[in-house]
Amino acid sequence: MAEDFKVTPWEVTGAIDYDVLMKRFGTTPIDQALLERLAKYGKVHPMLRRGIFYTHRDLDWLLDRYDQGDRFVLYTGRGPSGNTHLGHLMPWIFNKWVQDIFKVDMLFQMTDDEKFLFKDLTLHDTRSMAYENALDFVALGFDPDHTRIIVDTENIKTLYPVALRVAKKITLSTAKAVFGFNGASNIGSIFFTSMEAVPAFLPSEEAGRPVPVLIPAGIDQDPHFRVARDVAPGLSYPKPCMLYCKMFPGLNGGDKMSSSDENATIYTTDTPKAVKKKVGRAFTGGCVSVEEQRQKGGNPEVCAVFKYNYYLFEYDDVKLNELADKCRRGEILCGECKVALTQKINVFLEAHQAKREEAKEIVQKMTYGGFKW
Ligand code: SF4
Repeated sequence: MAEDFKVTPWEVTGAIDYDVLMKRFGTTPIDQALLERLAKYGKVHPMLRRGIFYTHRDLDWLLDRYDQGDRFVLYTGRGPSGNTHLGHLMPWIFNKWVQDIFKVDMLFQMTDDEKFLFKDLTLHDTRSMAYENALDFVALGFDPDHTRIIVDTENIKTLYPVALRVAKKITLSTAKAVFGFNGASNIGSIFFTSMEAVPAFLPSEEAGRPVPVLIPAGIDQDPHFRVARDVAPGLSYPKPCMLYCKMFPGLNGGDKMSSSDENATIYTTDTPKAVKKKVGRAFTGGCVSVEEQRQKGGNPEVCAVFKYNYYLFEYDDVKLNELADKCRRGEILCGECKVALTQKINVFLEAHQAKREEAKEIVQKMTYGGFKW
């Protein structure tokens, strides 16, 4: 039942087959030739090497333009509906790598309007969360002179004329077909994709010439950008290029970390005690008894603890392979493994939380147009 899953910007259900998803969305795999090309710009990030960022749209074209001296602008974002968790941080960490390697400007869009329209939240809630999420983004060390944070409800005067041009090109039939809207959908939600398209076109508007844009993001966002790419030529903008990653897994063994299961979700503001408790309950590929595990070994392929090492917490391939081998041979038990992961996460969070405090001094400088938080 490879097809038995669903991935949309608002819902991820079932066991995702990422190859099937790539075919369904019509994106291109990142192959060895593209990895070798990327290696010419700098050391390839483990998320690319490990196939976490695994598929793209027009990345070759973007690199051709870059080689000809045409710098692109990076764009990614966040729908501020709650505290930031590790699943949000993962693609941002990758974006930071892209900014460092290619020395490019970055736009970060906070879609507070989206979360107001799609969730049971007030505008005050989404605006407050935008600030909290922005601190996590800034804490990752983006260049403050080359990074701007857009908040939709604050920067609407700039965004609206471009959103209107986009909206005029999208029919209700397209919105229904792509996003599954129906007669009960509120009319703001139907308009919203025009807002998410704007930062893909804003650099061209500002420069008065076509500026390439690269959007590294979760593959669940593809429906928005398929629509943006379809309307781009009719508005004389270059189609935005995409670089998509797989979803960061939940500690419960699910394919996507989600705030709907708080116990399986590590937030950036979690205490060491909370992390210990959550990792302690994680789904593993271990056996029911110590004896059985020593004898038969565990299964790292299905283990959330192993996946956390694979995605974020063990970038050394030799050490990661050693862990997998020891697990399969029954030479390590899940308890030890969980203790080691807890330590890694807590070391990371301690440093991140300190940088998050420092971000309070920097975040104002990075607002688009200088709005006041
Ligand atoms: Fe997962 Fe570690 Fe247990 Fe293996 S030993 S199943 S990697 S927690």
